[in-house]
Amino acid sequence: MDYYSSQITKLIETLSSLPGIGNKSAQRLAFHIVNMPQEQVNTLVSAISEAKKNVQYCKKCFTLTDQELCPICSSTKRDEKTIMVVENPRDLAAYEKTGKYEGLYHVLHGAISPMLGIGPNDIKLKELMKRLSEETVEEVIIATNSSLEGETTAMYISKLVKPTGIKVTRIASGVPVGGDLEYIDEITLLRALDGRVEL
Ligand code: ZN
Repeated sequence: MDYYSSQITKLIETLSSLPGIGNKSAQRLAFHIVNMPQEQVNTLVSAISEAKKNVQYCKKCFTLTDQELCPICSSTKRDEKTIMVVENPRDLAAYEKTGKYEGLYHVLHGAISPMLGIGPNDIKLKELMKRLSEETVEEVIIATNSSLEGETTAMYISKLVKPTGIKVTRIASGVPVGGDLEYIDEITLLRALDGRVEL
């Protein structure tokens, strides 16, 4: 039933299609938006639209950026011999926030999940192997989540990388099982990084 005018309903439906936004939150946001000053709404709309238009994958590490290379890959201060493999840009952000990791990253955009039909070709694995063949890398730190998918992905990567002679390590299991990296505090993240073990 259409309690509200159709435009409000459409706004609520559109908002509730976003991840983590249920119907209640969508209603709250929709009413908030229609009560916002027009100028603020324009800023919101153009921020979304500009980000969508300009944000792309970094050519090197595949994180999201509005440049050809992200600020991390284009920095001269990073240790290019170390690559940390993460599932998504949010995990990269979690490690960046600690301010203690100086290497580069590689963002897979997912994890291998036979149950969901996500195979090695559906994530940025070929791209990782290409990087390893072109760049001088001494260590690959696998920092996928400790979920079943994350562990499966870690084992798969380890099997691929080991024959190249590059050192492969896995972050320690200070990270709770099934825990998403982005929700874990910085101290736990650093402990997991410091305690990484060779695979
Ligand atoms: Zn990059």
